[in-house]
Amino acid sequence: MNVITRAQWGARAPERASYQATWAQRTTFYVHYSAASKTQKVRAIQDYHMDTHGWNDIGYNWLVDSAGNIYEGQGWLSIGAHVANHNTAGIGVCFIGKDGDDTKLAREAIRWLYDEACRRAGRKLAIKGHRDSNATKCPGDKLYAWVRAGLPVDAPKPPTTGATYTVVRGDTLSGIAARYGTTVAKIAELNGIKNANLIHPGQKLKLPSTPSSHTVVRGDTLGGIAKRYGTTVDKLVKLNGIKNPNLIHPGQKLKLR
Ligand SMILES: [Zn+2]
Repeated sequence: MNVITRAQWGARAPERASYQATWAQRTTFYVHYSAASKTQKVRAIQDYHMDTHGWNDIGYNWLVDSAGNIYEGQGWLSIGAHVANHNTAGIGVCFIGKDGDDTKLAREAIRWLYDEACRRAGRKLAIKGHRDSNATKCPGDKLYAWVRAGLPVDAPKPPTTGATYTVVRGDTLSGIAARYGTTVAKIAELNGIKNANLIHPGQKLKLPSTPSSHTVVRGDTLGGIAKRYGTTVDKLVKLNGIKNPNLIHPGQKLKLR
């Protein structure tokens, strides 16, 4: 995913620091739309929120455009201003555009943010449209239907050779390694990182490629293998024509991609 940091989109400094929620308080993922031009700049949205509404910063936690770019708003844990009475529980993601402007790429980016939020929270968050909690048309009929369906997208492809990941605020190298089924040492080596604790938002990291196969050893489970390589049991079952996911045996060679 292409994550554009605040510095990269030219964010203004907030008027004052936002209050912070904890992951334990975060229960809900809210989808919004801007209901304006899909080419509107994130900075213009921030100016509107700060100068017209008098808020301390842009109201959303994240924004997504129709090309599928993700923009850092207030980030994961700052309490935003996007849904009355639910800003502590809710992470707000805004699609930039009008009803019907959303694209497959935009939906994939929103879904990626949802999965990432659940991973960080350590549990599933509820999925809501803004209109579920306030009297509003937001996020538009088309996007709302998709929200109600549970944000379905085609499964993301596993990372391939040369794939990069852009660090966002709050990332750790160990978290990124776990997500992509690799190790801190491998990412550090690929990127010439000397101090694994020093990564910064906006930094692009090369990711190791997924090997083409895995040879089962005693004690392996399909779930464990899927986790290690950043894929799913379903995918491995399909790729390898496995009839019973509980029956794999040492020495068996499994295709991973
Ligand atoms: Zn809204």
